Amino acid sequence: MLECRGCGVSRLFSLSNRWTDDGILLSMPRGLARLIVMEREHMVEIFQGIEEKLGLSIDMIIIEAKRKDAYVYVQDIIPPLLGRLLHIPLLRRFAYYAMVMQASLIGLGKVKLLEHRRGERLVGRIHPVYYHALFCGDAWGAFENFEGLSGEMSFAFFGKDLFINIQAAQDAQVEERLLLRELPTIVAPAGYERCRVCGLPIELSNFRWEPETGRILDSRTGEWLFMQGTRALDAVCRELEYELGEEIPRLVSELTWKFFRRMKVEHPEFFTDLTFMKVRGIGVPENETPTPEELREGVNIRNGFNGPILAGMVAAVCGGEDAKWDWDTPSPGIIKVRVGNSAGT
Ligand SMILES: [Zn+2]
Repeated sequence: MLECRGCGVSRLFSLSNRWTDDGILLSMPRGLARLIVMEREHMVEIFQGIEEKLGLSIDMIIIEAKRKDAYVYVQDIIPPLLGRLLHIPLLRRFAYYAMVMQASLIGLGKVKLLEHRRGERLVGRIHPVYYHALFCGDAWGAFENFEGLSGEMSFAFFGKDLFINIQAAQDAQVEERLLLRELPTIVAPAGYERCRVCGLPIELSNFRWEPETGRILDSRTGEWLFMQGTRALDAVCRELEYELGEEIPRLVSELTWKFFRRMKVEHPEFFTDLTFMKVRGIGVPENETPTPEELREGVNIRNGFNGPILAGMVAAVCGGEDAKWDWDTPSPGIIKVRVGNSAGT
């Protein structure tokens, strides 16, 4: 992969992603999708934690939300001119290969296209995969976009390999309730130190791309990182709350706390304050090093993505072992997180 001589990040990556001065991570060239960076294990623990609590699979909710998000995301990855020429067989095949490469570049895993019959069928194998249900939605949304028709999707694991089969269908169902919504955008001085050559935040030089497995690794923690559209996760959380009740946001927050508490214990030198947040595109804290008193008052996170997740992170990294926390949205684009302890101080 061609790398930037300033920061070492893949040039292909810097061309397809942009960090705005307001702390927002956008897919390029058109900026149609807002993205975030997450630890893969964090995502897995959230979904598995919910399934354990409920005693049932939430795969179909995740897949349906991701399918809609991916439909929009691929429009940004495929150049506009190419998008209009997808009726040409060779170019459509090229579009799928571009998606396979993009998946590897944003840490979704290693994909192999096994079969493509135009307007009919798509079969692929993926290993490793960032999350099976999310990737099924990705592939499904891409197929429906490129082929211009709806499809039916099925998947199965053989050993560690995930196989996905998508078949064109006249009367495929689309779940109407899972509408995607865009988060509001406000001014948020992220103040990134940027690479002088490619303009990406310099902190990305801590990320290591591993093309042979399609992963991004954080060289400071060893964790597998991936990038994800905000709309899909937002839609998944809202749908779970709608179906399963108000306890879901609190559960997501607690599962997040548990994951970042472990990160803080394992990597105390890295998770000392909130400076780790900005580069992830999840929000810009107004105060990156809050005192216990300021935490009780509340820390505002501008352009914050998902209150339960941000609150769990802040409480894990800045609060004590007995942290108690909550969150709200005092105005659009701001998430306020308050952290105290069980004694109420
Ligand atoms: Zn660079």
